[in-house]
Amino acid sequence: MRLNTKLIHAGQAPDKQNGGVNVAISTSSTFKQDGVGGFRDGYEYSRGGNPSRNSLEETLAAIENGKYARAFASGLAASSAIISTLNPGDEIIATADIYGGTYRLFTKIFPKYNIKVKLLETHSALEITAAITKDTKLIWIESPTNPLLNIIDIAQVAANKPAGVLLAVDNTFASPYFQTPLDLGADIVVHSTTKYIGGHSDIIGGAVITNNAALADAIYFQQYANGGVPSPFDCYLAQRGLKTLAVRMERHQSNAIAVANYLQTHSQVEKVFFVGFPDHPGHAVAKKQMRGFPGMVSFLIKGGRPAADKFFDKVRVFTFAESLGAVESLTCYPYLMTHGGIPEEVKDRIGIAQNLIRLSVGIEDIADLLEDLQQALG
Ligand SMILES: *Cc1c(COP(=O)(O)O)cnc(C)c1O
Repeated sequence: MRLNTKLIHAGQAPDKQNGGVNVAISTSSTFKQDGVGGFRDGYEYSRGGNPSRNSLEETLAAIENGKYARAFASGLAASSAIISTLNPGDEIIATADIYGGTYRLFTKIFPKYNIKVKLLETHSALEITAAITKDTKLIWIESPTNPLLNIIDIAQVAANKPAGVLLAVDNTFASPYFQTPLDLGADIVVHSTTKYIGGHSDIIGGAVITNNAALADAIYFQQYANGGVPSPFDCYLAQRGLKTLAVRMERHQSNAIAVANYLQTHSQVEKVFFVGFPDHPGHAVAKKQMRGFPGMVSFLIKGGRPAADKFFDKVRVFTFAESLGAVESLTCYPYLMTHGGIPEEVKDRIGIAQNLIRLSVGIEDIADLLEDLQQALG
């Protein structure tokens, strides 16, 4: 099956008993055993496995072109599960302009267990692999990055790292519709399914996808032993969201192109960050590794923080809120919201400026979005 078909059918065969075309929400926490160890369909207790979750995992593996997927209760629970497979003394290499919550895990949680994190202020694949030491076990990248939409050459990082160092790519921004990192040589894909995968701002969820059987076992052990699993209802919502991923992403893209082009010409706008612009520094690599561009557009507003506050106050169709990737357009202030946990001097150095505004362009009528930006910037 091709991607657009997998989104609707992979892991979602009609119900074996009644033919229902949707996967049932399997609410049982426990399953009757036919004698000790006599598991029907392999189910015992829902932390270890649940039909709704396993069905979602099958869909997720298929659409990321992976063999194994594991769903979690949040994107950060998924990230945490990956990092928890490491041992004290192991080192992670990551780039500094990552999601603020991942940054918090790297700097506030895992150092306590002597897992070291080297945060690099670069997007050069060569500089990333040059930083590998004998202790490095994991490279962690986002592409496009959040919120500045920088691009890292995933295939080049994958090609230049030793086999013993795993490459994890947070694919939340691109979604599997526009980018499949396992095809580019990554070992692990991580998602916040809260965003484009769910697509409707109605769940918190995460996922890990890989082709590496040993790693898949270790991630399953994290589900079972650490317990950060999603509810069956949230699994259903993620799967329902996925059915329309293709049509949503196409509209996110066309709306984002129109919004970016509009902002580019506006006298109140100092600079626009959008991967789809040919003069974006990562555009050539993005065209090589992505099939399109998601609805994320950031820009610097003239007039600093006061101008940004005014913009947030005036928007009517865009909603001033955290998060991204859903049908409704959102705007946020990365400096104090998504990236509030990053030290000020780091934010200043890497360009998360006090006049930076992030837009998650939704799938509303583009004319309404442009009119809203016009009146809010006016
Ligand atoms: C939101 C987000 C996360 C964290 O996911 P949660 O579901 O909020 O825990 C991780 N990475 C990226 C890029 C995100 O946008």
